Amino acid sequence: MKHSTFKVPELKNEEIKDYLKNSNERKDVVETYNSMYNQNIKVPLYIGDEEIYTEERKNINPPHDHQKIVGSYSVCNSNHVKNAIKCALEIKDQWTNTPWEERAAIFLKAAELIAGPYRSKINAATMIGQSKTIFQAEIDAACELVDFLKLNVVYMSEIYKEQPITVGKEVSNKLEYRPLEGFVYAITPFNFTAIGGNLCASAALMGNVILWKPSDHQTYSAKVIMDVFNEAGLPKGVINMVTGDPVLVTDIALNNTNLSGIHFTGSTDVFKQLWSKVGSNIHLYKDYPRIVGETGGKDFIVSHPTADSRVVSTAIVRGAFEYQGQKCSAASRVYIPKSKSIEIFENLKEQISSITLGSPIDFEHFMTAVIHKGSFDKIVTYIELAKNDKESEILIGGDYDDSKGYFISPTVILTTNPKFTTMQEEIFGPVVTIYVYADEKWKETLTMVDQTSIYALTGAFISQDKESVKYALRHLRYSAGNFYINDKPSGAVVGQQPFGGSRASGTNDKAGSKLNLLRWVSPRLIKENFNPPTEYPYPYME
Ligand code: NAD
Repeated sequence: MKHSTFKVPELKNEEIKDYLKNSNERKDVVETYNSMYNQNIKVPLYIGDEEIYTEERKNINPPHDHQKIVGSYSVCNSNHVKNAIKCALEIKDQWTNTPWEERAAIFLKAAELIAGPYRSKINAATMIGQSKTIFQAEIDAACELVDFLKLNVVYMSEIYKEQPITVGKEVSNKLEYRPLEGFVYAITPFNFTAIGGNLCASAALMGNVILWKPSDHQTYSAKVIMDVFNEAGLPKGVINMVTGDPVLVTDIALNNTNLSGIHFTGSTDVFKQLWSKVGSNIHLYKDYPRIVGETGGKDFIVSHPTADSRVVSTAIVRGAFEYQGQKCSAASRVYIPKSKSIEIFENLKEQISSITLGSPIDFEHFMTAVIHKGSFDKIVTYIELAKNDKESEILIGGDYDDSKGYFISPTVILTTNPKFTTMQEEIFGPVVTIYVYADEKWKETLTMVDQTSIYALTGAFISQDKESVKYALRHLRYSAGNFYINDKPSGAVVGQQPFGGSRASGTNDKAGSKLNLLRWVSPRLIKENFNPPTEYPYPYME
């Protein structure tokens, strides 16, 4: 590739397809889904230039049809993990010295493949393996992943352009944005195919080599991602994917002296465990490992007394129930003024009554199943708690059935206790809790919003009063890393709403932005003197 011909892409998002009845894209994805549903795929480990199919395997079952087997993934052992790290380190020098335009071209090619020939496949894999409706799959697996891959190239080129000043012609100052010296360990969650792809690709784009451990519940689409990277020409060994026991993989990675970074998205407890392990091993490492983690949330919607009730109820329905509430940004605690409560409840009942649940291949459904049995059981425990506690009642929903798939109907809990368990803890399912406040206490309510949960990921304030918006922005400054005014608190788009929260929600390194990419480089300043002095005394000494 000639570098002079390389063109940095435009800062533009991938267009979301509609999948309307009789459209070509709908026919394509239905055909692909049906064909994939009746295959039995085998997900290998991707280590160096090998694809290893282990004897020990685990089945992949669609959450909406859990007895069905659509494939299996490989379970790694400790030698696989050690070998994956070895392979990564072996190709490190070559990859680091690959001109950035060539690295970029590979990931842009991957974006092109996902936007085009792989679109139906990656969407269908996400529908089957993670139970997403076509719309949720499209905005995640296709569009968001394409956006990450493309826009990160733009951000990378901007980073490289940022250089120190040089005064006069006798010296030159240059920042070399070196990749980290060792390897980066990427650990990713089940709920976004795009996060799986991005956490390894973003660090690799900056010249790093990667050990990637996707979630057990995202292996189907993870395979598609690896196949795309291979087809795009990513040298084997730059991203090594292992699946299996997360503790085994993590302990080996975190006991390696060459660990230079952790790129994690998942739950808060797991992230804290990782951080503690790095702390205990700190004397082992050559570098201080960069630790980037985007974790749990307890995302809020606050309705000011001036808010339009239909805007509030729609923000609740979309914010809380899309993808069965399994978005880190999903609305899960809501504060509404007493004067509007009846109107909002009625509107919520009306909107939610038309929601149906089922397989993602039946396009009329707004919701499908939650990810696995553990998650189903955990969510049910919260619903039962609300049914049986005198401080709460089920306003809408509360039904569940796991006979065929892990289905939980959209559930609204009403509580009289603003600190009720379901107002504080992350449930990660289609359950939202409402607390009704006295209208005149809206300012005190904001203080409560700020102090109720350990998380600070997303939040929304709905109001038609400008002064109240200003007040909320000031008083909820640290309550959410992504703050929405008159909108739902979810649905961040790469490049438009850089995403991340603080407090127990993560390190807030804003995935899909320059801020994140900067974590994967360790700049070297190079000063060159074209006229070096030959004697030590300074002029003032004369
Ligand atoms: P999870 O924490 O269970 O798993 C995340 C990853 O960590 C998986 O690859 C898993 O195998 C691995 N893991 C699990 N236990 C481990 C251990 N003891 N040691 C090392 N690794 C371990 O999370 P999940 O259920 O896959 O995803 C849901 C969570 O992710 C929610 O808490 C959600 O809020 C969070 N999330 C956050 C963001 C964000 O941007 N803040 C985005 C998506 C998801």
